[in-house]
Amino acid sequence: MISRELAESAISIRSIQHFIYCPHRWGLIEIDRAWAENYFVTKANIMHERVHDSDNHYNARGKRVYTAVPVYNDEKEYNLYGVVDCLEESEKGLCVVEYKPTKPKDADYRDDDLMQVFAQKICVDYIFRCDCDTVLYYGDVRRRVKLPLRERYDFYDAKLKDFLTRMRNYMKRGEIPEIGRSQRCNGCSMKDLCMPKTSVSGTVRKMITDTVSDD
Ligand code: SF4
Repeated sequence: MISRELAESAISIRSIQHFIYCPHRWGLIEIDRAWAENYFVTKANIMHERVHDSDNHYNARGKRVYTAVPVYNDEKEYNLYGVVDCLEESEKGLCVVEYKPTKPKDADYRDDDLMQVFAQKICVDYIFRCDCDTVLYYGDVRRRVKLPLRERYDFYDAKLKDFLTRMRNYMKRGEIPEIGRSQRCNGCSMKDLCMPKTSVSGTVRKMITDTVSDD
């Protein structure tokens, strides 16, 4: 049976991605329970809904394809859960396929997308006792990009554990991380809630707290 402590400290794979993109945004979502959608979020959701249309397995090009596969890894050092867009099974073994609407202009992948798939690999390898392949599929260019996760496993493993530790520490303290000085906000769906330029420190919460404590 899962202990209460383990259940309470479980982290969703999706929230790791939020944390990497902007720790402040992650805090608004996970600690303040705020959420807002925009064009980018809606487009990504529609694409995922198509993938997750589950009657969730079929055969294609000699592969057995499973969609919307729930995964987890309950080892204490990870304690993760989430859903894999697509898991392909072939004579080569298992391959995680994560769908993204748009390929970045100047790179093969974004760091937060790579870490999302690494966390999925940690779960799939744990459940199926394997060493799965990992690819991103970009809808706009209809192309797959293989991720170098097996080759740089130790590097990404250390990074993932560091993110998880930091997230758990913030959660324990109930603290929303400050906005980073070099944070890029283009395309963020939370701009209207966050108002990043509203105060010196960049947080509405801080501005309200300051106002209240001045009274
Ligand atoms: S608007 Fe900028 S600082 Fe605020 S949550 Fe979005 S990315 Fe983070």
